[in-house]
Amino acid sequence: MKKRLTLTFPRRSVHMPVTYRLAKDFNVAANIIRAQVAPNQIGKLVVELLGDIDQIEAAMDWMRSQDIGVSSANGEISIHEDSCVHCGLCTGICPTEALSLDPKTFQLKFMRIRCIVCEQCIPTCPVQAISTNL
Ligand code: SF4
Ligand code: SF4
Repeated sequence: MKKRLTLTFPRRSVHMPVTYRLAKDFNVAANIIRAQVAPNQIGKLVVELLGDIDQIEAAMDWMRSQDIGVSSANGEISIHEDSCVHCGLCTGICPTEALSLDPKTFQLKFMRIRCIVCEQCIPTCPVQAISTNL
């Protein structure tokens, strides 16, 4: 599982070895994509977390308990209803079952709350009906 997040550190936590703790305590690898951290200032990191989804959720809870701001760095997934032909190809690749075909109507259903914006569905769509706003 892969999740991209923006982390905002309060001044007192700027020097906290967060990536070390994520690896050691949660078995979550953190790739730093962008960093903006200066001593005694609020810091920002854009990170991609790799690990088990439950462990990533636990790591996010832990970071919030340390007063680290955690927000999704990705935009949102959009399904373009005019283009979608309800072929269901994207549902097979979605790791969180955010995408499914309604068993009665055979129409694509998108449960945004389950979507982790991993973007794996985008290249699977034969009619380019899926995009992010980033
Ligand atoms: S980005 Fe696509 S594949 Fe990934 S969780 Fe969201 S709907 Fe599923
Ligand atoms: S792969 Fe594309 S066309 Fe097929 S159901 Fe998913 S969004 Fe619709």
